[in-house]
Amino acid sequence: MMAARALLAAAGRRAGGVLAPGAAARALPRAAASSSGGGGPFSYDPPGRNHLFVPGPTNVPERFQRAMVRGGQNHRDPGFSNLVYGLLEDLKGLFQTTSGQPFVFPATGTGAWESALANTLSPGDKVIAYRMGTFSHLWIDMARRMGLEVKVIECRWGDGADEAQMEKCLKEDLATHGGSGKIKAVLLTHNETTTGVTSDVARVREAMDAANHPALLMVDAVSSLGAADLKMDEWGVDVIVSGSQKALSLPPGLGLTCVSQKALARRPEAKLARVFFSYDDHLRMYQEGNFPYTPAVPMLYGLREALDKMSEEGLQNVFARHARLAEGTRRAVKAWGLKLLCENPRWYSNALTVIQVPRGIDSGDIVKTAFAKYNLSIGVGLMRVQGEVFRIGHLGDMNEVSQLGAIAGVEMTLIDCGVKVKPGSGVGAAVKYFQETSSVIPTRDMPGVH
Ligand code: PLP
Repeated sequence: MMAARALLAAAGRRAGGVLAPGAAARALPRAAASSSGGGGPFSYDPPGRNHLFVPGPTNVPERFQRAMVRGGQNHRDPGFSNLVYGLLEDLKGLFQTTSGQPFVFPATGTGAWESALANTLSPGDKVIAYRMGTFSHLWIDMARRMGLEVKVIECRWGDGADEAQMEKCLKEDLATHGGSGKIKAVLLTHNETTTGVTSDVARVREAMDAANHPALLMVDAVSSLGAADLKMDEWGVDVIVSGSQKALSLPPGLGLTCVSQKALARRPEAKLARVFFSYDDHLRMYQEGNFPYTPAVPMLYGLREALDKMSEEGLQNVFARHARLAEGTRRAVKAWGLKLLCENPRWYSNALTVIQVPRGIDSGDIVKTAFAKYNLSIGVGLMRVQGEVFRIGHLGDMNEVSQLGAIAGVEMTLIDCGVKVKPGSGVGAAVKYFQETSSVIPTRDMPGVH
C-alpha cells in the first residue's frame, strides 16, 4: 500500500504535480497498480467516499466495523455463550415477539428463506405466495425447487399484496379439500426490494383469519426488518426471515429468522431435508449458548452493536427516521416530474424508492453514470422492470444530510442522461421537507441550537 502511494506521488511529480484523474494509476507499473485494485478498469480510487445508496448492502457504521475487527476466537471458550444468550434474547425485541424463537445462521436472506421452508414443510406440500417482484419470485422458485407445490397470486409489479385475493384462495382451499385444507403456508414478501412496495402484513393476517385457515404465515422481511414496523406476535406472523446487510447496517453474512411456537411445532411432521439450517440442531446448541458449527464470530459482535444502537435510538424512532427519509425522497421524485413504480401510497416503502424513467431512457445508464461520475451507487431495475426503473435506498445508517447527497447525485445524473429536470428542484423539495420536520438530535439540545 505504502509502495503504491509512493509511486503515485512520484508519478504525480513526473507529470508536473497535477495529474488528470486516473493518470497516476495508469502510470503505475503493473505490480504496484494491482495492489490498489488490479491496475485495470476501476483501479483508480477517487477522492471522497463511495455514496452507497443501494437498498442493501448498506453503510456499516464505524462503531460496528470496530466491533467486528477481531483476532481469531474459539467459540467454544467459556464466556462466548454470554454473547449468544444475549443476542438470542435481544433479537426478540427486534422481531417484536416474546414467544418467538430467533435463529442466527451464517448465511444470507436466501438461507433464511430455505430454513423457513425446510423446517416446517414436507415434499409435495402446497403453499401460496404472492409474486410482485424479483425476490418474491425467487422465493417461489426456491419452494418449487425444494419440491413444494406453489399456488401463485400474481400482482402488478408496483402493487402490494391483495388481501381479498388471499382470503378467497384460502376459503376455496378449505371448501375444496375440507378439514384444514391443503395449503400449509402463506409466503409474503413484506418489502419487495424490486419495486419499493411494502405490503400490509397485518391485513394479510386478517384475511387468513377471515378465511379461518390454519396455514403458517411466513414473511420475508429481508429489506424491512428494522426499517418498517413488523409486529410478529401482534400480527400473528409464524416465521420472519431476514438478513444482516439491510436495515441492520451490517455486512452480508447473517441469515436471521424468528419462528413462532406454532411453526416450531411443525418440525416432527415436516419431512424436507435439512442439515445446515436445522432448527433442532440449533436449538440443542442454543441451550449451551453456542452453535452446531462454527458461527460467523465477528458478525455476531457486529450484531450485538447493531441491536444496542437500535435500542438506544428506540425501535419506533428507527422506523420513523426511515419513513421521513423515504418521504423526502418521494418529494424529490415528484419535483423532478418523475413517477414512482409504487403508485398507491398505502404501499409506500420506508426502505427504498423505485423511480420510473421517461420512455427512451435506459435506467441502467443512469445507474452507471451515477457510479462513473459521482461515485454514487444506486440500484438497477431488476428482471421485468430492468431498464425502466432505478432504485434509491434509504435504509440503515442514514440521516437527512446523507440522503440529500443521494438526491443531489441522482439529480445531476438525471440531467447528464437527458432527463428534463430543473437543477435544484428535487434537492429543494427534499431540503424543505427535511428542514421542516427535523428535530434536534437527543442529547444535543443546548443553548444556541434552533
Ligand atoms: N428478499 C428480499 C426482499 C431481498 O431484498 C433480498 C435481497 O436483496 C433477498 C430476499 C435475498 O437475500 P440475500 O441476497 O441476502 O440472500
